[in-house]
Amino acid sequence: MSNNVESIVKGAFIDNELVPVAIDVRVPVVDPTTGAVFTELHEAGTEEVDAAVAAGRRALEQGEWGKLAGFERGRLLSRLSRAILDNAEELVALESRDTGKPLGQAKADIAATARYFEFYAGAADKMHGETIPYFREFFVATEREPHGVVAHIIPWNYPAQMFGRNVAPSLAVGNAAVVKPAEDACLSVLRMAQLAAEIGFPAGALAVLPGRGSVTGAALSAHDDIDYIAFTGSPGVGEMIQVVAARRAIGCTLELGGKSPHLLFGDADLSLAVPAIVNGIVNNAGQTCSAGSRVLVERAHFDRLVGAIADAFGKLRAGTPEMNLDLGPVINQRQRERIERYCDRAKADGIPLLAEGRIADGTPSDGFFVAPRLYGPVDPNNILAREEVFGPVLCVMPFEDEADALRLANDSEFGLLAGVWTRDGGRAFRLARKIRAGQVYINGFAAGGGIELPFGGVKRSGHGREKGLAAMEELSTVKTIIHRHG
Ligand code: ADP
Repeated sequence: MSNNVESIVKGAFIDNELVPVAIDVRVPVVDPTTGAVFTELHEAGTEEVDAAVAAGRRALEQGEWGKLAGFERGRLLSRLSRAILDNAEELVALESRDTGKPLGQAKADIAATARYFEFYAGAADKMHGETIPYFREFFVATEREPHGVVAHIIPWNYPAQMFGRNVAPSLAVGNAAVVKPAEDACLSVLRMAQLAAEIGFPAGALAVLPGRGSVTGAALSAHDDIDYIAFTGSPGVGEMIQVVAARRAIGCTLELGGKSPHLLFGDADLSLAVPAIVNGIVNNAGQTCSAGSRVLVERAHFDRLVGAIADAFGKLRAGTPEMNLDLGPVINQRQRERIERYCDRAKADGIPLLAEGRIADGTPSDGFFVAPRLYGPVDPNNILAREEVFGPVLCVMPFEDEADALRLANDSEFGLLAGVWTRDGGRAFRLARKIRAGQVYINGFAAGGGIELPFGGVKRSGHGREKGLAAMEELSTVKTIIHRHG
C-alpha cells in the first residue's frame, strides 16, 4: 500500500497527469486510527492553481472536452463509474486509511461514489431547454450551458462521495472541474482522477489540487478565471468563500452543516426510529453535515422513548477500520479535542449523561477515538443543543405538543435536514411543510440521503442544491436565444 500511496500523492493532478509542484511544500497525512503520519501530500501552490484553471479553460474553449455532446460526456461518466467499481478494493483501503472509517462504511461510500457517476451519466443528455411563446414573429428557446471552470472545494469527512457529488453533475453539464480536496484526506480523490484519465477523459476536464485550505483553497477560490465555486465545509470558511465570490460577482453553492432535529412522537414505530436515530449520529463518527444531532421527544412518552435510544447507544463500539464496528476514530487530534471540550462543558453544565458507548479493546491508544455519548434532557439554549459538534454526541430534549416540536425544530441557526417520526400522516405532512430545512424525512432518516434526492440547506446551512437533477441546474446557467424570423 505505501508504494501505491506515494505514487498517488506526489504532485497535483493537472491535464491528466500528476505533475510535480513548483515549490516543494509537503503536508503530513495522519492515519486517524494510529495517530501516525503515513505519507505527505505535495501541496499545490499558486502556479499549480494557475495551471489547473488554464487547463480547464483550454479544455472548454479549444480542447476536445468543450466539443463533446451530452451523451458523449455521459459515456465517459459511465466508464468512470465502472472503473471506480473495478478498483473498489483499492479505493476502500485508501478511504479507510485516510479517514479511519470502518471498512463497511468505506465500502458503502465507494459504492455510492460509483452510483453518482452512474446517475449523472444517464442524465448528461437529458437537460432540456424550453421554447417560450413570444410575439408571433419570434422563436425563443432556452438551453442550459455550463458555468465554465468550476472550483469544487470539498471536505475530509466523505472524500470519495464528495468527489462524486460535486464532480459527476459538474462534468455532466460540461464544466471543467478543478477540485481542492481536504488536506486531511485526499487519496481516493487523487486516485479517481487518475482513473478518469485512464478511461479517456479529455485533458483539462478535471484537475485535483491537494493542499491546505489557507494556501491552495484560498488561491483557487480567489482565482480571477474561475466561473463558479461549489463549497462544502465549515460555516466560517463558507462565509469567506461567499465574500470572495461576491467580489467577482460569480455564483457559489454553500453546504455548511447543521444541527438537524428528529421530532419523535409517542406513536412512532420505534423499531424504525431507534436504529435510524442512532445511526444518523454515529455513522462516520458523527462527522456528517446532515447528522441528526438533536432529538426532540414528546414529553408524555419521554422516558420510554429516550430509554430505547439509550439502550441502543450503550451498545455502540468504536474501533479500527478492520474491526468494522459502529464507528471509527474521528479525523484528527484537533477534532477529538473539540468534541471532548463539548462533553466537558456538558458535564460542567450538569447535563445528565444518559448512555455512553465504548472504545473496543485493542484499538491503538494514539488513535483519535471518541466514545459515543447521549445527553439529556438538554436546555434548548444550551450550547450542546445549538452548535454543531461534528462528533458522535447526541442530545435529547422534551416537547409538549406539535406546535412546541415545530418551534424547537426551527429554533436553530441551521436548516439542513429533519426527521419526523409519527404514525399520524396528517401531522407528519403539516410538520414537513413548516420545518425550515432542505430535506425532511418522514419515518426514515439517512444522513445525506440518496443520490437522486436534491439536498442542501437554508439559513446558516448554506444555499444551493446538490444531488439529483437539481445539482445540474445549480452547476449550469440558462441561455435564452431570441430569433426574430419576421
Ligand atoms: P473543517 O473545519 O470541517 O475542516 P473547512 O471549512 O476548514 O472544514 O474545510 C473544508 C474545505 O475547505 C477543505 O478542503 C479545506 O482545505 C478548505 N478550506 C479551508 N480554509 C479555506 C480557505 N480560507 N479558502 C478556501 N478553502 C479553504
